[in-house]
Amino acid sequence: MMGPAHSLSGAMAWLGVGAAASWAGHPMPWPVLVVGTLICAGAALAPDLDHKNATISRAFGPLSKILAGFIDKLSAAVYNATRGPKDRRRSGGHRTLTHTWIWAVLLGAGFSGAAIAFGRWAVLATLFIHMVLAVEGLLWRMARVSSDVLVWLLGATTAWILAGVLNEPGNGANWLFADEPYAWLGLPIVLGAIVHTLGDSITISGCPMLWPLPIAGRRWYPLGPPSFMRFRAGAWVENKVLMPAFVILGAAGGIGAGLLAP
Ligand SMILES: [Zn+2]
Repeated sequence: MMGPAHSLSGAMAWLGVGAAASWAGHPMPWPVLVVGTLICAGAALAPDLDHKNATISRAFGPLSKILAGFIDKLSAAVYNATRGPKDRRRSGGHRTLTHTWIWAVLLGAGFSGAAIAFGRWAVLATLFIHMVLAVEGLLWRMARVSSDVLVWLLGATTAWILAGVLNEPGNGANWLFADEPYAWLGLPIVLGAIVHTLGDSITISGCPMLWPLPIAGRRWYPLGPPSFMRFRAGAWVENKVLMPAFVILGAAGGIGAGLLAP
């Protein structure tokens, strides 16, 4: 899928988690619902950091370009080092390491760990990265016509304001993990990456999200539904069917999160 569909599916997923959390007796304070939705929308672009032309690889100027080149090489190396007998050798790393659930969990754990270890500055950095990505993903072409610097300013301002809101007593710094403020920040990051892999798996090329589980002689088996249910990335299904569905389901999740709260 393309950037906007990935971001909308991420937003929808966190709103769904909001409804489920209310139902399970851990209702999210509204800032957690809002901030988590934006983080998840941004995090749903992150796996494509293995491709130098992806939205995320252009989002932070030369810095993200260099990082994307490195991630591509790292992914290709891990792919070739761990491939099964039926996995073909590859030179590029797109849709491999960063498109696995192990990567998703490690990435989220890294951000949660940073929030626990470094506190406010790690929270601000996490929010900044994901707000810039959320703007790029959700506003897409509208973000493209404005300059990168404006998007970064918007991301930085939003991050600063949201960090202040979360920090107010009762606003959710301690949601779910009472003793570890902001430990929950990794959750929308894990979820965003997983939702991205699911989105890619319904396109023609599939997604090897269960690496390194061996499937049919391959450790990088491109999983997905039967081929008649798959579509080409950017096809009309994505814009005309999936994206409206994500908006409706996300709205239902948001309403559910409110109604189910005790
Ligand atoms: Zn992808």
